[in-house]
Amino acid sequence: MTQAAYAIVNLSAVKHNLEKIRAYAPNSKVLAVIKANAYGHGLLRIAEALMDVDAMAVARAAEAIRLRKAAYSNRIVILEGFVCEQELIELMQYDLDVVVHSIDQVEVLEKYTGPKKVTVWLKLDTGMNRLGFKVADLNTVYQRLLNASHVNPAILLMTHFSSADEVSNHTTQQQINIFHDAVKTFFGETSLANSAAIIAWPDSLTDWVRPGIMLYGVSPFADRKGTQLGLEPVMSLHSRLISVKMIEPGDAVGYAGTWVCKTQTKLGVVAIGYGDGYPRAAKVGTPVLINGRRVPLVGRVSMDMITVDLSTQPDTKVGDSVTLWGDGLAVEEIAEYSDTIPYTLLCGITQRVEIKKVNSD
Ligand SMILES: *Cc1c(COP(=O)(O)O)cnc(C)c1O
Repeated sequence: MTQAAYAIVNLSAVKHNLEKIRAYAPNSKVLAVIKANAYGHGLLRIAEALMDVDAMAVARAAEAIRLRKAAYSNRIVILEGFVCEQELIELMQYDLDVVVHSIDQVEVLEKYTGPKKVTVWLKLDTGMNRLGFKVADLNTVYQRLLNASHVNPAILLMTHFSSADEVSNHTTQQQINIFHDAVKTFFGETSLANSAAIIAWPDSLTDWVRPGIMLYGVSPFADRKGTQLGLEPVMSLHSRLISVKMIEPGDAVGYAGTWVCKTQTKLGVVAIGYGDGYPRAAKVGTPVLINGRRVPLVGRVSMDMITVDLSTQPDTKVGDSVTLWGDGLAVEEIAEYSDTIPYTLLCGITQRVEIKKVNSD
């Protein structure tokens, strides 16, 4: 008997994707981005597959502390840094690198006198206007950090792109130029590239690259799938058919009766819904794989179930296995049918979905 909703996370695919990243950026070290529970794949299990990476990045302290408590001794960077002295002290107890993006953080660092020196990734805002110092402030901030007695003088410099996934948007080249120009008189290592930039913007490949989505085998570009970029999907989401029946012309299916059947139809009910992280916005026609064959979603996505039109699959029966995305059905495609990006689908997998890991090619 097949199981209700579960996901398979293929660690061999993570390793394959890491190799691919190294091939795209052969002269760079890899800061593997495993924030948000490793994009929904499970923090510790992905960290396990990435043991030989140069460093790992998470957004928040709690994620890094989980890694340390599980005995991961790799270099870890906190992308959002800290907001006060107490938080910095805690981060330093766990030997974590911090991103420094605001003058408030610089003030905290100037007062800090802990036992170890703080390793800083100094973030420049080259146009995204989210986190980071303006280029005009770089010199002053850098000097203040160098003068702080408990800051490691090997300060790294980084920036983040707003539009690297749009390959004909000139913003990225402008950000790259602003960054290179701003840092040319400084000595530290630098880091610019996220996944999209690793593939599309060679001038952004410096000492460190910061891949996230491509580690999970997913394309950062709207018009290409991960498999077309040589990546292997890491997560596949599965469930099973729990009901199969005939419905009659005029029958309205699901909440609000938005889909009305025109001819006698074989209707299947699959045990997956937005309570598992399947997108409620998935439109009628979104492909679903049953026994490896595509059928269209019909009606609205409910919390625990979706309905599919099985007319083209007369042999399907209760208990048959269903793939919502993964091998043979790209999560990129489901994102498109749901007017979202694959990032939100992967991150959105909920607690009740059991995640099984496998190591297979
Ligand atoms: C999330 C994140 C990344 C990774 O982005 P992808 O598009 O998933 O490759 C890199 N750098 C920073 C600062 C991030 O926040």
